[in-house]
Amino acid sequence: MSRMNDSFREATRFVLEGDRFLVVSHVDPDGDAIGSTLAVGHLLHLLGKRAVMVNASPVPAKYGKLPGAEEIVKLQELRDASPFDRVIAVDVADVERMGDCRSLITSDALLLNIDHHRTNNRFGTHHLINPDAAATAEILYDWIESMEIQWTKELATCVYTGLLTDTGGFRYSNTTPSVMKRAARLLEFGVDAPWIAEQVLETLTIGQLNLLRRGLSTLRLSEDGRIAWMWLTLQDFSESGAGEGDLDGIVNYARNVIGVEVGILFRQLKSGAVKVSLRSRRRVDVSEVAGFFGGGGHARAAGCTVAGTRDEVERRVLLRVSEALERMDP
Ligand code: 5GP
Ligand code: MN
Repeated sequence: MSRMNDSFREATRFVLEGDRFLVVSHVDPDGDAIGSTLAVGHLLHLLGKRAVMVNASPVPAKYGKLPGAEEIVKLQELRDASPFDRVIAVDVADVERMGDCRSLITSDALLLNIDHHRTNNRFGTHHLINPDAAATAEILYDWIESMEIQWTKELATCVYTGLLTDTGGFRYSNTTPSVMKRAARLLEFGVDAPWIAEQVLETLTIGQLNLLRRGLSTLRLSEDGRIAWMWLTLQDFSESGAGEGDLDGIVNYARNVIGVEVGILFRQLKSGAVKVSLRSRRRVDVSEVAGFFGGGGHARAAGCTVAGTRDEVERRVLLRVSEALERMDP
């Protein structure tokens, strides 16, 4: 704990000594990525700093009404901006996950890396990394508390969103007493919990439903019924009018089938490679499976990008998952 306090102090000094910061998160951002980006943006503004928030992917529609979301700019909009030598990366396990946002950063930049992925490879110059945190937003909560600044409703809303979404709506095994205590405190700062839940958990785009429909039609089960997987092709995206932001939650349907331990979504990328999303119910640590293919994530939710033909990628990933299952179940 005291080590974390030292890190908080160092991170605060890093912020106070700078003037203009780039705030960046991972491609295909989820609620923790967007919530944490916005929270750091609000925090910097409260401290009188300039913050430019960016993401390599568009902000998914369901996060579009979060306070400040309209200020997250697209990479292209910064083409003429001078590069940044002070950066805060949130929820980013390795630099590749920033996508092309890397091009905005000078080679000698000071970078504060705030993250909760066990697979984080400490690519920053300053670090606030805690794999036991349920969300990057939980680390932010503690950092903000350590600064003794006044919480605003906007700041609290963005932190709450990260806690809510990375715990699957306070359902996953990372829903600890600490998460609930922090969430309860955030409600006291004026967070409108039902509004956020409606925005980020109970709102679907038609594109998302169309993708789901197509994904479900490809659902297959392994012989023992412990692995379920789906495919989405480039055609599925173009014909359903969906974007990357519409993928949220689709893989869960595979994992949620009774008896299934690991659910997988395979998705064709424009590059020709295949993006693999893995979700585990209880037994398998899918971050290990993803790590084997050069990706990462958490024990229950992980991902990787695998080169190869459809059949090849499917075979290799299914093999690795069944081996992991067998190790769990001797
Ligand atoms: P998703 O399946 O929703 O894209 O990602 C699930 C989890 O795995 C997230 O925590 C995400 O950060 C992580 N993840 C997904 N893809 C990759 C990847 O290619 N590399 C790494 N390091 N993590 C990934
Ligand atoms: Mn996260």
